[in-house]
Amino acid sequence: MTGSISHRTQLVKNLAIRHGFMGAGISKAERMEEEAFRLEDWLNKGYHGEMGYMANHFEMRIDPTKLVPGAKSVISLQYNYFPQEEQIPPFKGERRFSVDQKDLSPSGGVSRYAYGEDYHKVVRRKLKALVKELKEEIGDFHARVFVDSAPVMERDWAKRSGQGWIGKNTLLIHPKKGSYFFLAEIILDMELEYDHPIRDHCGTCTKCIDACPTEAISPEGYILDGSKCISYLTIELKDRIPDTFKGQMDNWIFGCDICQEVCPWNRFSTSHNEPAFNPSEKLKSMTKKDWRELKKEVFDELFARTPVKRAGFEKLAGTIKFVMQ
Ligand code: SF4
Ligand code: SF4
Repeated sequence: MTGSISHRTQLVKNLAIRHGFMGAGISKAERMEEEAFRLEDWLNKGYHGEMGYMANHFEMRIDPTKLVPGAKSVISLQYNYFPQEEQIPPFKGERRFSVDQKDLSPSGGVSRYAYGEDYHKVVRRKLKALVKELKEEIGDFHARVFVDSAPVMERDWAKRSGQGWIGKNTLLIHPKKGSYFFLAEIILDMELEYDHPIRDHCGTCTKCIDACPTEAISPEGYILDGSKCISYLTIELKDRIPDTFKGQMDNWIFGCDICQEVCPWNRFSTSHNEPAFNPSEKLKSMTKKDWRELKKEVFDELFARTPVKRAGFEKLAGTIKFVMQ
């Protein structure tokens, strides 16, 4: 490898921006002792619901050297998904989409991250291109790239590397970029300069706790009972949504953005520049009636390349029925 640690670090950060990421922070690859304790406690309380995979590969999850032998650094990156076109609740009003409507807080339908092509593929391509160019610049090294694809404590690594703080809604929040971004990582056997965490700016705010319709966020914040979260109920939960949640779904049929919509730091969100994430015209035109009458062929047409496909037609149809009747 060529270049000083400082040169390589700067190169990583410059390339991250050039490849479309919002930013990059770097942490030393080491076992996460404190985070391991918190994860164990969260799992013991059963807050992961049916997400059994959260309990798997515990050691790998908290120790990057178990994922990438000889790992020295973890690069944390963010990729913007805040849409230019906002989906207005498909069940209220005439207009379904409008440009830059973030102040209107749309409260229904499909979560913003799922409007377009599956982010796993889009962001992974960017990560691979970044690593390739980095190797061309400084020589060979061993690296693995991750985007919600392996047991990696994404939020905690991003926090360690100064890319934001973990808010009371348990999401990573950047003081200038908000929280509408995907997290991704490159774990590599190359030493780099390490960044430092920034402070928590939630202060006395409780907007996300107050707004969560299922009371999934703990009264003091910072702990999420995943088994009560609408995202879990509409995506991960294989069974029918329990009747106790009737009337609490606030029209969400895939995911939920409420605790991001109400977060004051998202007033700084700016639109992404990724054509792959744009919603199709068909999705934009869906009405409540269309959702109610959704057929498998239309589901396939709407969601073939999106994250919604992973939930499957049966699950979405069941959720629509639950939410709309
Ligand atoms: S995503 Fe929705 S249901 Fe889940 S914690 Fe946030 S507001 Fe509550
Ligand atoms: S809504 Fe308020 S309390 Fe919740 S994450 Fe945002 S700043 Fe923190």
